[in-house]
Amino acid sequence: MKVLFKLKSKNAKKCHWVLESSPKTFHTLLRKKKVFFEWHRLSLREFIRPTRCYKCNRFGDISPKGPNEETCPNCGQEGHKKTDCENEANCINCNEANFKFKLGHSVDHTATVQSCPAYNHQVEQLISKTDYGR
Ligand SMILES: [Zn+2]
Ligand SMILES: [Zn+2]
Ligand SMILES: [Zn+2]
Repeated sequence: MKVLFKLKSKNAKKCHWVLESSPKTFHTLLRKKKVFFEWHRLSLREFIRPTRCYKCNRFGDISPKGPNEETCPNCGQEGHKKTDCENEANCINCNEANFKFKLGHSVDHTATVQSCPAYNHQVEQLISKTDYGR
C-alpha cells in the first residue's frame, strides 16, 4: 500500500489518510472495515473524489499554473472571489458540459457542491477508470 496524501478532518483530533492499494488488498480491507495500524484503530472507506482546480474550478486541472483564469466557485465568472460574489450560483462545470455535450444539467448551484451533475459525472469516470481487479 502506498500513502498518497493526508486530508484534514473537520474534527481537529482526526485526520484522513488516502492510500492506494492493489485490488486484492483493497477487497480484503473493505471486507474488514476496520484495520489496526500500530495502536490506532482505523476505519476505512473507499475514497473517490475528483480533483477540482481551486483556481479555475474545473475538474482535472490540478496545476495552479493551469491555462485557465481564476474563476469564482459561486458564479463561474472571472475577476472576483467567492467572498465578493453578488451573483446567483451558476456552476461553471455544468455550464461547460451543457455547452460541449449539449446536456441539460441544472446550473443553479456552486461548483463546490457534491450534488453537482458534472461532479457526479467525474465520480463515475473515476470509478470506471479504477482497477478493482475484476
Ligand atoms: Zn485551473
Ligand atoms: Zn461570483
Ligand atoms: Zn454543476
